[in-house]
Amino acid sequence: MEENTPPLTGGCMCGSVRYEARGEPLVVGHCHCHSCRRHTGAPVVTLVAFTADRIRFTGRTRSIYNSSPGVKRAFCDQCGTPLTWEGFSRATNAEVIEVHISTLDDPARVFPTEHWLHDERIPWFDTADGLPRYRGKGAAGEEPYRHGPVEDGLPD
Ligand SMILES: [Zn+2]
Ligand SMILES: [Zn+2]
Repeated sequence: MEENTPPLTGGCMCGSVRYEARGEPLVVGHCHCHSCRRHTGAPVVTLVAFTADRIRFTGRTRSIYNSSPGVKRAFCDQCGTPLTWEGFSRATNAEVIEVHISTLDDPARVFPTEHWLHDERIPWFDTADGLPRYRGKGAAGEEPYRHGPVEDGLPD
């Protein structure tokens, strides 16, 4: 997305917390890690990352849960919607905010390009794409350990 395209907008289910993100996302990825799944109750989450200075929150102040040292996860304390992963990214050398794309007003505007923490996934869960699967978050020269879905964990 160019600087002059409309910002990505979104918010929680009740509409109390709103945000807008400007400029090109750093990356869009599916995260299979235990913490993202626990935070959202979903089998996988999809996150769009921006440097923190690109995102502006409006409305009600988002609530923060510190899920591990240096990692914050935001949510709406009115309706419970999980909103973000927030922390320092070594790959970007900056504070980063990753937004759960299902809180975007139009999630179809962003396109996932990779899978993170893929070997933490629920064994029966994968997606039918050829994208790279990383054991980590694909940063700092990490090579994907496979492309395309795993079928071994699937029920017959
Ligand atoms: Zn809300
Ligand atoms: Zn995660």
